[in-house]
Amino acid sequence: MSVKNNQKNKTNLDEALRAQKERENTYRERALKLFPWVCGHCGREFDGKRLRELTVHHRDHNHDYNPPDGSNWELLCIYCHDNEHSRDQVADAYDQDSPGRPGKKGSGVQAFAGLADLLKGKLS
Ligand SMILES: [Zn+2]
Ligand SMILES: [Zn+2]
Repeated sequence: MSVKNNQKNKTNLDEALRAQKERENTYRERALKLFPWVCGHCGREFDGKRLRELTVHHRDHNHDYNPPDGSNWELLCIYCHDNEHSRDQVADAYDQDSPGRPGKKGSGVQAFAGLADLLKGKLS
């Protein structure tokens, strides 16, 4: 049963990925027609082969929101785009790992183990 489910899920995932690729290609094409080929953050210009490094960022981070006037798009080079998203990821990670959550037994044990290692290191 579980094997069948996995296969089904994989197919769905493949299809979803393909659909996403196609969608990305379309809105990228459209964004490139709308905007000058310049990174909105660092201002670098792109053309020819290097145009591949220019990507479409979604201002509200919703890749399904693609208004025809391009108001949700921003052209960013891959580096600035990466920055833009890793900033969010860092913020998210801090949120998730915020200490002091009640009933978190695991972290207490871990801290204790670390302390034991520290003591061992000092003694030897
Ligand atoms: Zn840039
Ligand atoms: Zn983005």
